[in-house]
Amino acid sequence: MKILVINCGSSSVKYQLIDMSNEEVLAHGLVERIGIQGSILTQKVEGRDKYIIETPMENHKFAIKLVLDALVDEKNGVIKSMDEINAVGHRVVHGGEKYSQSVIIDENVMKELEACVKLAPLHNPPNIVGINACKALMPNVPMVAVFDTAFHQTMPEKAYMYAIPYEMYEKHGVRKYGFHGTSHRYVSSEVAKTMGKDLKDLKIITCHLGNGGSLAAIKNGECIDTSMGFTPLDGVVMGTRSGSIDPAVVLYMATDLGYSVDEINSILNKKSGVLGLSGISSDFRDLQDGLEKGNERATLALEVFRYSVKKQIGAYIAAMNGVDVIVFTAGLGENSVPNRKAILNGLEYLGIELDEERNDTYGVTKKISKDSSKVDVYVVPTNEELVIARDTLGLIK
Ligand code: AMP
Repeated sequence: MKILVINCGSSSVKYQLIDMSNEEVLAHGLVERIGIQGSILTQKVEGRDKYIIETPMENHKFAIKLVLDALVDEKNGVIKSMDEINAVGHRVVHGGEKYSQSVIIDENVMKELEACVKLAPLHNPPNIVGINACKALMPNVPMVAVFDTAFHQTMPEKAYMYAIPYEMYEKHGVRKYGFHGTSHRYVSSEVAKTMGKDLKDLKIITCHLGNGGSLAAIKNGECIDTSMGFTPLDGVVMGTRSGSIDPAVVLYMATDLGYSVDEINSILNKKSGVLGLSGISSDFRDLQDGLEKGNERATLALEVFRYSVKKQIGAYIAAMNGVDVIVFTAGLGENSVPNRKAILNGLEYLGIELDEERNDTYGVTKKISKDSSKVDVYVVPTNEELVIARDTLGLIK
């Protein structure tokens, strides 16, 4: 059984073809710059040179056709014919309140996805375009949608409601939804497995820290709170996103400073976070370099970021009346020794003791706390594509 996992962005398609008999990734790739000059497809297969196609790609349908061609290419491909693809799993950012689990895509689901566009105007449209393109190219292959929001649907009302007029929720769906759910779900279940414990017996805080960042409080296997909100702009400080700020700042920018809605959107999503604070970069590695060279703004950006994550951990310990294990995942979480150390520094009072030698680890599942630590701390590499493939397999069976 081979499953194609598709993750469509506005001008990109990420893909993996996974053989589910042993969960081996047969090929993975990235198409970039769809619909703009310089379109390029890069496919990687273990043990082979990269396969690159540079040709104008007008739209996602054309790009996905090229993906399929690359997968069946006689010299560079990994399958003989498209018939070997048994199903396609699509990453979909927003499933609203309707979906707390993955679902087989049919006409009704497509309508629901359209209805969610107003909640995720930047993310859901390219996801829908990708699904439609795949349906046109593989009309008889079952397709599954796996939502970023689904895992967080177990949050209680007190966690997801905003204290604004109730009709904003009732009529317009304004509430906390949370994102990165597939990642939080995967690493929480992986850490329980690694510890040899039942997920249902654990209080877990998962820290997904990459370019975007979010934390989740997971009690007895269910998400009870998460740091992203109505959109992925909320929560901890990120690469280019502000995270939580006083909402009155937005009003001030609009009224006193005269910025348009589009400008404010761009400032808060693309020009803020550690990029905005440092003026140097959104990449945390560049900021670490800056900090080590004594750059004050890089140091400030990292301090504000780390403090926001630390406070969120503290909040979730309060929300769950304790924590058994803290998990770090995604680009920074898996690879940044100094950031993990700084985030946990000063939480010894709560029984969190990092082991500096163990913390010297990159991208592998490993315990990084001391044996004497009351709370375990782990690094667990995330694998959202595998979750999408597993959910797809489970549903089409
Ligand atoms: P992701 O969004 O999960 O792909 O993570 C990408 C981000 O992780 C990059 O923008 C980097 O800022 C960050 N990152 C990756 N490796 C490291 C590292 N060794 N130290 C600090 N940050 C890192």
